[in-house]
Parts: sequence; structure tokens; C-alpha cells
Amino acid sequence: MNSAHSSTIVDLHIHTTASDGVHTAQEVVDLALRAGLRVMAITDHDTLAALPAALDAASGRIQMIPGVEISCEGPRGEVHLLAYYIDRENVPLREALARSQHARIGRARAVLERLRGLGIDISWERVLQLAGDGAIGRPHIAAALTEAQHVGSVREAFDRYLAQDRPAFVARAKLSPEEAIRLARQAGGVPVLAHPWGQEEMVPALARAGLAGLEAYYTGYSDQVVSGLVALAKRHRLITTGGSDFHGQAVIPERRMGDARVPMHCVRALERERERIRAEA
Ligand SMILES: [Zn+2]
Ligand SMILES: [Zn+2]
Repeated sequence: MNSAHSSTIVDLHIHTTASDGVHTAQEVVDLALRAGLRVMAITDHDTLAALPAALDAASGRIQMIPGVEISCEGPRGEVHLLAYYIDRENVPLREALARSQHARIGRARAVLERLRGLGIDISWERVLQLAGDGAIGRPHIAAALTEAQHVGSVREAFDRYLAQDRPAFVARAKLSPEEAIRLARQAGGVPVLAHPWGQEEMVPALARAGLAGLEAYYTGYSDQVVSGLVALAKRHRLITTGGSDFHGQAVIPERRMGDARVPMHCVRALERERERIRAEA
């Protein structure tokens, strides 16, 4: 399939400390150079914050493609949409990303509001304390309810108040993949379905909604999975991209930069797609 040479010089899916990676933008650029990469993309979850420093650090040393990985809610659960070459100043995109980031906090606050309406007063500070460094969520509210003896257990907190269809349930506000595709394109970005293995059934509808590519090359995908995804992309006239989804070896040791064996032609196709989307915008 891919030659050993082309296999290690491209990685289009890398996280930094701006989301949940352990290395700063400068550090990932240094790591990428040490790994022998020539083209890289930074794609943090729902934030563009690392991109200015990343572009600076990369300047004249490595080709840096600016990107973002947008969290979406599909009909069957979480879907991640990569968007490459987005305009970082695009207001609708920036606002949508900010809303996504705050969605967890906003939701937790709304749940406490509902509980207050039911006569149960739980302190926001206590819920924050219980969440610690973790992403705040219903388990922390359940723990606070248990601690304050409104319920006998976390389980009971969900059964009585927090589960779907219970009185303090608040749905999480998330973008649909179609909305994220639209946002990406109007920001001049190339929308690509991240790690699509297992989500192939969504591809026809997303292709009609303006999806431009599939992340067919991904750490851990077998040659068979990759060729299946490449064929699926071809059928829907989509480009293919790929990356390691590197977060730092300290957190996910099995993902190393360059491991996804992304062919160089993916970069050329991505650049062509960028020109096409720009011309349309
Ligand atoms: Zn992802
Ligand atoms: Zn990722």
C-alpha cells in the first residue's frame, strides 16, 4: 500500500493543551519535526486557541494546516467533524465553538435551576468542587444530591431527577453534523468526518449535506478498514485524509505522530478542495 517514505511525513489530526492534549503548540511542532513529519494539522476539540502559536512555531520549518475538531451529536451518538483551513476570524464559527465549550457548564447550571424549581437547592460551588479537574457533568450533580441527602444514592439521583424524561433532565445543546458542515464551509473550511469507521451509514446523508472528506487513515485502522473507507469515499466523491489523533504519549501511548501512514496525495487533495470551497464562498 503506502511506501515507508510517504507513511511518516503527514499527520493531519493532532491535539494540544488548548483541548485535551498534553503538549503545547510549540512542543507538538518540535515533536513533529523530530518524528520526521513534513505536513501537520492541529485539530483541537472545539477551539482555535492553539492555531496562532502553532502557525508561528511551524513557520518555515513544517507545513502547518490549521484545523479544528468539532463535537457534534448525531442520531446515534457523538460524531466528530474535522474542519481544515477554516478562517480563524469567522464569527459564526467562533461563536458556535464557544457555545460547544460552554455547553457542559451551561447544561449543569440548567439542571440545578430545574432542581431549584423542584424545591431542591444544590450549590454550584459544591458541584464544581466535586467535578475537580474533570469535565463537569450529571454524575457530579448526582453526588451533590446524595451528599445533601436528597437521595440515598447516585443511582437514585438519576432515577428520580437526572435521567432522560425525569424532571431535572436537560438535553445537551450540540451541533448536528450537518450544522457543523455548514459552519465549516461558510468559514472557508474543508469538512471531514473524523475516525469514521463504524459510522459509515451516515456518509451518504453527510455527503449530500456538503461533507468533503473521510478520515480514512487513522491510528489502529487495519489495511482492510482503510481500503473500505477509501472505496466509500470514492463512491461519494469525497477526498480522504488521515492522522494519528495524537494527544501526547503520556495520555494515549499507542498513538504516535505519523503512525496513521497518511499518503502525501491526501494533502494535495485537501489543498484542491480548499480552493474549490473558497471559490464557492
Ligand atoms: Zn475525535
Ligand atoms: Zn481528535
